[in-house]
Amino acid sequence: VEQALEQLKGIDKEILLLAHTAALLSWDQETYMPVGALEERSEQISLLQGLIHRRITDPRCADMFSALEANPDNPAGAARFSEIERAFVREAFRRYSRGTRIPESLVVEMARTASMAQGVWVQARKASDFSMFKPHLEKIIGLLKQIAECLGYTDSPYDPLLDEYEPWMTTREVEDVFCRLKQPLVELVQKIVDSDRKIDESVITARFPEQTQLRFNLLVLKAMGFEFDRGRLDVSAHPFTTTLGVNDIRLTTRYNEKFFPTSLFGTIHECGHGLYELGFGPRIKGGLLGNAASLGIHESQSRLWENMVGRSLRFWKGFFPLLSETFPGVLKGVTPQTFYEAINAVKPSLIRVEADEVTYNLHIILRFELEKRLIAGELAAADLPAAWKEESKKLLGIEPAADADGVLQDVHWSMGAFGYFPTYTLGNLYAAQFYAAMRRQQPGVEAEIEKGNLKPVRSWLADNIHVHGAVYPAGELCRRVTGEKLNPGFFLEYLEKKFGEIYGF
Ligand code: ZN
Repeated sequence: VEQALEQLKGIDKEILLLAHTAALLSWDQETYMPVGALEERSEQISLLQGLIHRRITDPRCADMFSALEANPDNPAGAARFSEIERAFVREAFRRYSRGTRIPESLVVEMARTASMAQGVWVQARKASDFSMFKPHLEKIIGLLKQIAECLGYTDSPYDPLLDEYEPWMTTREVEDVFCRLKQPLVELVQKIVDSDRKIDESVITARFPEQTQLRFNLLVLKAMGFEFDRGRLDVSAHPFTTTLGVNDIRLTTRYNEKFFPTSLFGTIHECGHGLYELGFGPRIKGGLLGNAASLGIHESQSRLWENMVGRSLRFWKGFFPLLSETFPGVLKGVTPQTFYEAINAVKPSLIRVEADEVTYNLHIILRFELEKRLIAGELAAADLPAAWKEESKKLLGIEPAADADGVLQDVHWSMGAFGYFPTYTLGNLYAAQFYAAMRRQQPGVEAEIEKGNLKPVRSWLADNIHVHGAVYPAGELCRRVTGEKLNPGFFLEYLEKKFGEIYGF
């Protein structure tokens, strides 16, 4: 039995090394690779992915899992193992089961279809013409239904798709949480729209030179505790964070000289992800448990830093002097309060990635409801644009005139990533609940933020969340850290207070 565990760890170690190598190739592709290298790079990456898949589904694993007494009813295996060992077996068994239940022919078909669909999606979005993308979307939905059947489910075919990104969480649980969030959010947006308070945003659309923005980004990363001997910051078209090794975390950002928030808040966001990846405890580092508990938890780390810390008045009381010193001409006569209001202006808009903290989650609820109906066969792809407009009108009070501003705006569906969207909002909800717990357990933390000292935030997150990696499933981690299961009340309370003060209600 001990031998089975050792063998399984050996395979896991190789998977991790291959995955980090593949991540290096992808990182390079997004940052420095010359365009001419694209074709061979794709081959290199898919070769590595094939090797990873072969190790995940290694036939010898079947005997190892049976020696460890791991099975679908008891994925964590024999009770006599330690907590960490059982968590490792649980996650390894989950990965093995998902990997072996889908026939290789289906995996290949999905990869080919998605790769083609992404290309078509780019063209369709350019032309703002959903009919070009429709046959590809239909094929993707058909394949996802087959994948859901292979993986198995008791309740909803959406469950096994969600499980890819938010392990151990069910569609029903997401529905319950979103249902409690939806109406209060719609009402809050209405109150803001109705308020006569007009926010002056001109301060953030002045010209902020790229090199100076970079300098300020680096100062903030340093204050957040990002370790530059274990990571770096570069530029890419779409910001992301990736892990190339346990001591090598790469962040990227992009610059817009005429809109200050893009780069700084993107950088803070990615650093939130990066600190999580830097913080896995010594017992779990370098293996399957040295990973996020779920995408929702990962996103909670980025959103907590970006929104609850970075977009707070406290943060700007601490950092505004440094900001005006860095951009002396641009911010003449601007106060922390005006600046704070400008970076927190709320207005319903069509594009998710440009949405503010309040309306953002309505964009997610819309996508979650539509993709669930598509997978359940309750909505045909042909009716998607009309359904999108109807939901958008209901939730945001506005509807897109063009497909490019509606149903074609996100890349996710063209990649076959159904079940991904909810993790963004789960991240916001976990973030608010974690932040509230941090404030209760460490009452002085906000006074420190106001002084520009962010160390207590990082160390609380590291001690309570980062150190555990994937040892506990997201739901259990949440209960351990905050004393209760995921509760959207914390997020709603946070929004009511913050935006009530800004908009005067
Ligand atoms: Zn993120």
